[in-house]
Amino acid sequence: MKHVRGPLCTIDVGEQTVETESIDDVLESSIGGRALTTKLAHERIPFDADPLGPENRLYFASGPLQHATMSFTGRMSATGVSPLTDGLLSSNAGGFLSRNFTGTGYSTVEIAGASDELVIVHVTDEGVEFEPVPELEEATVPETCDYIDDEHGLGSEHTVVIGPGGENEVRFASIMTSEERAFGRGGLGAVLGAKNVKAITFDGDSTHEVEIPSLQMEIHGEAAQSDSPMRDQGTTSVATYANMVEALPTRYFSELSYEHIDDISGDRVEEKKYKKGTCSACAFACKLPTKDEETGLETEGPEYETLMAFGSNSGVDDIVDVMKSNKLCDEFGLDTISAGDVVAAYLASEDEFGNADLIHDTVEKIAYREGIGDDLAEGIDRVHDDLGVENWSVKGMEFAAHDGRTLNGQGLAFATSNRGADHMYAEFYPYEYPLVDADDAFDKEGLEDKPPKVVELENINAIKDSAVLCKFSRSFMTEERIETLLDADYEELLALGGEIVALERHFNNQRGFDREDDTLPYEIPGFEQGLDEYYEERGWNDDGTVPASALESGGSDGAPADD
Ligand code: SF4
Repeated sequence: MKHVRGPLCTIDVGEQTVETESIDDVLESSIGGRALTTKLAHERIPFDADPLGPENRLYFASGPLQHATMSFTGRMSATGVSPLTDGLLSSNAGGFLSRNFTGTGYSTVEIAGASDELVIVHVTDEGVEFEPVPELEEATVPETCDYIDDEHGLGSEHTVVIGPGGENEVRFASIMTSEERAFGRGGLGAVLGAKNVKAITFDGDSTHEVEIPSLQMEIHGEAAQSDSPMRDQGTTSVATYANMVEALPTRYFSELSYEHIDDISGDRVEEKKYKKGTCSACAFACKLPTKDEETGLETEGPEYETLMAFGSNSGVDDIVDVMKSNKLCDEFGLDTISAGDVVAAYLASEDEFGNADLIHDTVEKIAYREGIGDDLAEGIDRVHDDLGVENWSVKGMEFAAHDGRTLNGQGLAFATSNRGADHMYAEFYPYEYPLVDADDAFDKEGLEDKPPKVVELENINAIKDSAVLCKFSRSFMTEERIETLLDADYEELLALGGEIVALERHFNNQRGFDREDDTLPYEIPGFEQGLDEYYEERGWNDDGTVPASALESGGSDGAPADD
């Protein structure tokens, strides 16, 4: 099995110490990325760690495919205990960081402790330095990137940065890289903020030998020639279709389609797109640099999920207003999905859907925890009672689009996800729209035959997050190709993916998570039976906890729970 190379670098930002250690045994059994960092986190973070305390640890890791020049590999993984969900969580970002991270020579960087003063940590192939930066207190992401470029000659592709959102410990603060790309979901920006780390830079020329098969060039060529609509409209290419089949949350989840979809659709985003955008080494180039000529507003996106959260779910029908929300979130370092849904909850409580000025003002208040923003910064799960609205979250995480009331398999996947209501954990929705071959498609309604598929998709996505492989490679990555690229049997990979999902679940069980947390704010026909089938397929207990036996097998062999 291919795996990433290089030691673990542990940086205690409180003690300002650095330790390097070989972790070859972990590398050999875990490919890289999410598998690697989940194993380390499970061993090294206390089960009762406060997500915002010094005992929480934050991991960054690349995978073996970051040594390739193949499309769909411009990504990295980060892992820690989430202040939003209170569970172990991995987040994934694109952009141009991963090759610079690999250049440091480390497979994994672990941030421990908490600094007394605001610092930037510089990681290179020659060592680690700590730079106090009190002058960057509450600086935005672009301001911080400019500082690093001016003072150190390192562009934003060398950095992870937090904005005021992370510093103020907003529970859904993102970590930004390449200025506009986000480790978005789960509030890992607040973890970095609690450690008083404003930014980390990565630079170096280290190389490790990881031989990647020539198949990488074939895939690269196909990506460059692809006629996928994603190459013009990114993820927004699905917006009109999702709306048509009533899977687009609208006005704080009170409706399933939006009458103004044509005003915020993929076509509108494409009209604002002014050049190609991509991640490192990716010829698919699905990113969306956009500009509004009239106002001069420039941003990257909005992606489909942001169109939902700040568009339909907030009752906004002007694409430029959605672009501005997107830009503010990127500058302040906030996850656009959670931020948009939280703002939509506030709009519902105030009967102010569509009020773009209020939306933009509220986003800023959240980032700086001013007034109502201080409450909203806690997320829907913690604030919905005060607002007098329903709790649209799973395990504390706000919902992504692809509504499970219409796409019932995706609904089950929202419930079982260790990360909460995130669409990329299992990514079931393409099988119900369908965006896959007819042979693989499922009817939207009901859960018949779906639980084993949820398990399989969760497992293979854990592998993609470990390789690290972009999920948008779906139509290019046959089972055979994944086997060839990672030099491993597909069943072996699924078992490893299952092991990672079980490790996350086991960690979260120790923090009190069980079946009661695998729940939805709506009914799906056959939901409880579907959940039973999911646990049985995984070899977990029927209360949603992981028996010791399933920690090894991942439950992918369907072995029954034994304790
Ligand atoms: S497919 Fe899109 S998101 Fe994925 S690596 Fe390529 S450009 Fe980045």
